[in-house]
Amino acid sequence: MLPRAATATLTAATHGSDGSDAAATLTATIHTAGQVAAVALIVTIAVAFYLFTCLVWPFGKCRRCKGVGKFKSPFGKAFRHCPRCDGSGLRVRLGRHVINHMRAVRGAGQNSTSKGDK
Ligand SMILES: [Zn+2]
Repeated sequence: MLPRAATATLTAATHGSDGSDAAATLTATIHTAGQVAAVALIVTIAVAFYLFTCLVWPFGKCRRCKGVGKFKSPFGKAFRHCPRCDGSGLRVRLGRHVINHMRAVRGAGQNSTSKGDK
């Protein structure tokens, strides 16, 4: 359940339109090479900072249950665990998936226990 959700999140990241549209309009307004370099530097710093925060704080609230981890029944005190996060209320942040992926790729050649299916 969890690896499938992670793949879906990564697919959404590569094909998502939330960031690419803004980047397209940004590049359309830029003309000189100096501006391009400055923007590239800012973007690199922002991405590095985001990845750093994902390294230190890898979890966010589960979006389905808003971090509660369970859904209450309207009757009595019954509840069920959130199927998305299995009751933990946690969501692995997107940047952390990227970090995990980079670690898995880097360690694939060194680690004898890795699957190495690529
Ligand atoms: Zn949840």
